[in-house]
Amino acid sequence: MPYVVTAECILCGACVSGCESNAITEGETQSHIDVNLCIECGTCEANCPVQAIYYAEESKTANPQDAVPADLKMPEESKPTPDP
Ligand code: SF4
Ligand code: SF4
Repeated sequence: MPYVVTAECILCGACVSGCESNAITEGETQSHIDVNLCIECGTCEANCPVQAIYYAEESKTANPQDAVPADLKMPEESKPTPDP
């Protein structure tokens, strides 16, 4: 989960058009980086006018899901309940 977009994103589109791997898509409130496509070139971080993209050290995150933007997380109530 290296490069992460934060809520500071103003959806300017600079990172989307500048990503040579087409790893970034614009969501409703902010852009999102597909870690499976990202080659960690750092272009998006450099292009962002509001510093909404940063490099997240994997070692700082015990659970990689913690670095996923909140609106991408599965709501608690929709998680399957384990069998008794
Ligand atoms: S680091 Fe490079 S490849 Fe990854 S999302 Fe940013 S611009 Fe795209
Ligand atoms: S460059 Fe920054 S502000 Fe613009 S869409 Fe990308 S993350 Fe959002």
